[in-house]
Amino acid sequence: VHEFSLAQSILEIICSEAEKHQANHIIKVGVALGVISHVAPESLNYCFDLAKEGTPAGQAELVIRRVPLPASCADCGNKFTLHSAKLNCPVCGSSAVGILAEQELMIDYIEV
Ligand SMILES: [Zn+2]
Repeated sequence: VHEFSLAQSILEIICSEAEKHQANHIIKVGVALGVISHVAPESLNYCFDLAKEGTPAGQAELVIRRVPLPASCADCGNKFTLHSAKLNCPVCGSSAVGILAEQELMIDYIEV
């Protein structure tokens, strides 16, 4: 399941961060999910809750927010911010739109 592997990579990142800062418990982690991501926040939360058992993030709360993404149009060269999963250039209407962010999910912050 895609959500489950995402949840696991979140855990890997935050647990190694916590280790670096010699923190034993992670209280909260905030993640930013791109607007075009097909990941459902509820199922990501569910998978995170399953995967966090027995890790330093065992009590951690996952806070997910949707973020707009920078995009550009291949047809007219327009650069714009994508606020929804609808991939159309606001200037020429083309659907040849490329997303300029390399990841669908980014770690916002970690509270320990
Ligand atoms: Zn365009």
